[in-house]
Amino acid sequence: MSYSIERVAVLGAGTMGAGIAAQVANAGVPVLLLDIAPRELEPAEEARGLSLDDRRVRNRIVQAGFDRIRKIKPASFMGAAAVQRIELGNFEDDFDRLAEVDWVIEAVVERLDIKQQLMARLEETVGDDTIVTTNTSGLPIARIAEGRNDGFRSRFFGTHFFNPPRYMNLLEVIETEDTEAEAVLALSDFATDRLGKGIVPAKDRPNFIGNRILSVHGSYVIAQALAGGYRFEEVDALTGPLIGRPKTGTFRLQDLVGIDIASGVARNLYDLIPEDPYRDAIADERATEVMGGLIERGWLGNKTKQGFYRKGRDGQGKTVFEVLDPETWTYGAQQDVAFPSLAELSKVRSLGDRLRGFFDPRWDDDRGAQLVRRIVTHFLAYSAARAHEIAFDLQSIDDAIRWGFSYELGPFELWDLLGVEETVGHIEAQGFEVAPWVRTLLASGATSFYGLEDGRRTGVWDWDSESYEDLELPAEHITIAELRHERDPVRSNRSASLHDLGDDILLLEFHSKANAIDDGVVEMMHAALELLDDERWIGLVIGNDGANFCVGANLGGVGQLALQGDWDGVDGATRALQHALRDLRDHPKPVVAAVHGMALGGGAEIVMGVNRVVAAGESYIGLVEAGVGLIPGGGGLKELVRRRITDAADRPHGDPLPAAQACLETVAMAKVSGSAEEARELGFLGTRDRVVMNRAQLLFEAGNEVLAMIDEGYERPDIDALYAGGADLRAPLEVAVWSLEQAGFASAHDAEIARTVAHVLAGGDASAPSRRPEEHFLRLEREGFVKLLRTEKTQARMRHMLETGKPLRN
Ligand code: NAD
Repeated sequence: MSYSIERVAVLGAGTMGAGIAAQVANAGVPVLLLDIAPRELEPAEEARGLSLDDRRVRNRIVQAGFDRIRKIKPASFMGAAAVQRIELGNFEDDFDRLAEVDWVIEAVVERLDIKQQLMARLEETVGDDTIVTTNTSGLPIARIAEGRNDGFRSRFFGTHFFNPPRYMNLLEVIETEDTEAEAVLALSDFATDRLGKGIVPAKDRPNFIGNRILSVHGSYVIAQALAGGYRFEEVDALTGPLIGRPKTGTFRLQDLVGIDIASGVARNLYDLIPEDPYRDAIADERATEVMGGLIERGWLGNKTKQGFYRKGRDGQGKTVFEVLDPETWTYGAQQDVAFPSLAELSKVRSLGDRLRGFFDPRWDDDRGAQLVRRIVTHFLAYSAARAHEIAFDLQSIDDAIRWGFSYELGPFELWDLLGVEETVGHIEAQGFEVAPWVRTLLASGATSFYGLEDGRRTGVWDWDSESYEDLELPAEHITIAELRHERDPVRSNRSASLHDLGDDILLLEFHSKANAIDDGVVEMMHAALELLDDERWIGLVIGNDGANFCVGANLGGVGQLALQGDWDGVDGATRALQHALRDLRDHPKPVVAAVHGMALGGGAEIVMGVNRVVAAGESYIGLVEAGVGLIPGGGGLKELVRRRITDAADRPHGDPLPAAQACLETVAMAKVSGSAEEARELGFLGTRDRVVMNRAQLLFEAGNEVLAMIDEGYERPDIDALYAGGADLRAPLEVAVWSLEQAGFASAHDAEIARTVAHVLAGGDASAPSRRPEEHFLRLEREGFVKLLRTEKTQARMRHMLETGKPLRN
């Protein structure tokens, strides 16, 4: 059988169903979203004279789920077009339409009987090459399709998404004995390439991998915390980033998930795993009492505005989070967390050194260290104890914990970091057993779970063959770390490097602090230009492995020049970036930016400046200079004039004013796109720029783009003169700024910045529209930039940003 997935249906428009539908739509695939038709009219419907036959009534439930997912924050949809790709319907009127789709994903209530009945109906309806999957979190996958025919069962398996489906990378895929490998492969490819997910194959065991380990482990942490009389804020301080876990720690995470949900999941699991001795943590008496007490009172966490924490206000009216005292069931101010181990070790930068520090005998009597030791050893011991039961290999467990729960490292990666043998001693000291397969690994002479060569992972321990298996990254996953292992950079300075990406393509990587643009980065742009002139190289990609593409220009550098009153220096620095970008764009060989995460200020200008962009779906692009009292000075405004205003002016009967107004608003309000698609709507990406949903494939796809551009016969772009609207644009834009200032929406300095933006967008002082070369707009940018930088208020904004990392309104 060969499968292709071009139309998808989701059954159930609840939290998960609607969220999954949104992500499929984000991938550009049309989705049919169905839910139950109501049995009764609501009073409002009756009052309007509607009957149960009315389509609006019959789609009421699915409509409500869809409306909720449209409003939710962080946004589930990447842009307006994705919203349009979803069609709504109900299980009674629209079920037949499931015959037309290639993948049906079931995400209805967690009830075996209901899911089984749906499968029986699906068996009658769907085509012979339709894949059907279930999103259950805890029901046995095989039982959901029990009684269905062989063909149906061969195309049926589990796809367990994590909430929210757009942002959580993990997708656990659970085959049954009857599932055909091709169906799993086709869906896994679709989910990897189009939905951007990280696939982890899991066994059909209760709660699969991620939730199995972290439900039991989380219950253990809560039980230990209560038994040891730790305050909740103490536990959260110890179980967050300090030990490589998300900021929410333990109890804030419970509040976020919902105490009823978290405790329900754990209770269900308890009954399903009688052979697992670690399950006792779930039944811990004191923990059950506290969780039960919260549920009884309806204090379920964030959704009821109180749980382990409650939002309150201090004497000055500032928001504070009060914490629950489970002895008195009252909330009070959080107290300082004062473990000496924490005070000292929180200063240690490396996770491995920090954690090893907690095991140092000098902290034997420190209550903070005692809890960290128990938690870390439990996590490792438990993961190893159940590994065979839930996973096919140990790497799957690491991937699941990192991708599904945002831990810095999975258990075996962490264990390697701490040293396998040393840690065995710590695990035993805490009274946990070490899984026999880990002892076998050590007895064989191996010293780590992952095989290393020159510090680079090349193998992974296989518990069946009791040896290392080769570890190979998929060809589409290019990382700079890996490139560095293969060969030294072609050129390098402290802020940036040039690498050989393969296929004779150069790669420009920024590695300055926060990947900000500084002299070193600009210098490396020039080096790239020089190398591109050499026959050896066919094109350039600009991209990196960092958390963000580039957060802007280094304010410190510009601030320093301003402090010295070196205005020519400032003009020179902006000119250098403008010209480097212009020269990259105008080079006869293609230059492609591979953008991901944040691309702000100067970072956005690089994205806008080069020939072509390949953007990760999660790209947050914006010209945010107004926040520090400046205007874009690296060609960003010039690009908006070219792409939006000139484009509008060139259309038959086109009107450049609305485009100019939109540009002014974008820049003056420092708008940042919530996705690559939104960046296109804002004009930061062009029509030919491409979106890649899987971040791991970005550099590979950017390289492919260079090759494709060459295949298409790439020639340097011909840039026509730009539309300079003069007073025709400037006057109405200034009126708009004036009204915002009068209405109190903009401070006098905000207005000054906005007028400077308007001046550039209009092409300067001219009274009548004309066409001016790019250089004219670049000069206006530089003049506006320097003019604002000379003001006291802009300098105050910059100082504030450098000192606090937050914008100042003045
Ligand atoms: P939900 O309560 O938000 O949504 C459940 C959906 O089922 C609703 O659309 C509801 O209208 C529909 N439904 C109710 N009764 C039905 C019936 N008799 N027949 C058919 N449909 C009916 O639940 P959810 O959190 O979206 O969970 C859906 C599935 O996903 C469950 O199997 C759950 O275990 C699983 N899951 C949930 C999460 C999570 O974090 N919430 C994560 C992974 C998997």
